[in-house]
Amino acid sequence: MNILDGKKTAQFYKDTIAAEVAALRAKGSRKPHLVAILIGSNGASETYVASKVKACEQIGFESTLIRFETDVTEETLLAEVHRLNETADVDGILVQLPLPDHIREDTVTLAIDAEKDVDGFHPESLGRMLLGLPGYVPATPKGIMMLLDYYNVDTAGKHAVVIGRSSIVGSPMSVLLSRNSKPGNCTVTLTHSRTVDLRYHTLQADIIVAALGKPLFLTADMVKDGAVVIDVGITRMKDESLSKGYRICGDVDFDAVAPKCSWITPVPGGVGAMTIAALMQNTLEAFKRRIKV
Ligand code: NAP
Repeated sequence: MNILDGKKTAQFYKDTIAAEVAALRAKGSRKPHLVAILIGSNGASETYVASKVKACEQIGFESTLIRFETDVTEETLLAEVHRLNETADVDGILVQLPLPDHIREDTVTLAIDAEKDVDGFHPESLGRMLLGLPGYVPATPKGIMMLLDYYNVDTAGKHAVVIGRSSIVGSPMSVLLSRNSKPGNCTVTLTHSRTVDLRYHTLQADIIVAALGKPLFLTADMVKDGAVVIDVGITRMKDESLSKGYRICGDVDFDAVAPKCSWITPVPGGVGAMTIAALMQNTLEAFKRRIKV
């Protein structure tokens, strides 16, 4: 069993981006600028946004965090998004999900200028991904592809089973794995909560991407020997033995599944770290397009 080390790999990509930014800065360029909007004070969202801001600092990006109270109106939020769309030195805009119930996620996603959509959630970004055109690929699936690429995991002709069909993880993951590219060229089965006999599918999989948000869901009896297992899940589980009162749990029963795998991602230190690296990569691309490098 080998570990797909997201933390180490993300550092490699962040170092590469930092070197590119330093070279551009040496030629007189400004810094790439990412703006994150955070609504309310959800603990997990606070943590994710803090990691994104920290990554920006590490690699020489400018970052701005804009906070709104939970009761912010959709109108106010949209006005801020429109202002950022028009601000010349803002390259990337992300609105941290989930949003409060009274704000429509689709409306906010559509309001972000597609040129600044570094999360890759805008229909234009998703359409471009489907057509194989240049654009922003959602950060989590993109990060997984970067991880498979870094470790040169053989994916061509393999059967990949993706568990979960969300528009930000499972569905784009299925598209990327089935693309005619390296990594890619998988035969993909996309599964969800209505899939009958999921275990029948996962037992045939050479590659499993677990992205359903159910802690320890994928058990050893669902995985064939030699499989590659990617664990996307992040759930906070109560744990009084830790000072923070919780631990992060993936969708895979790591201890039982890992011995059967050829490759597996840990949680934490797997996909989460790669998501941040992919977001930084998208922001660098946005910046380079804007300054026309
Ligand atoms: P989501 O929008 O809630 O989607 C979950 C998907 O899982 C749905 O398609 C659902 O099916 C499917 N599902 C639920 N129960 C199932 C079951 N028993 N069998 C098969 N499929 C089942 O979640 P998401 O946003 O994709 O996130 C999934 C997980 O990844 C969460 O833990 C989230 O925190 C984590 N995540 C991690 C990162 C990272 O950077 N590591 C980034 C994003 C998300 P239906 O469509 O039929 O309801």
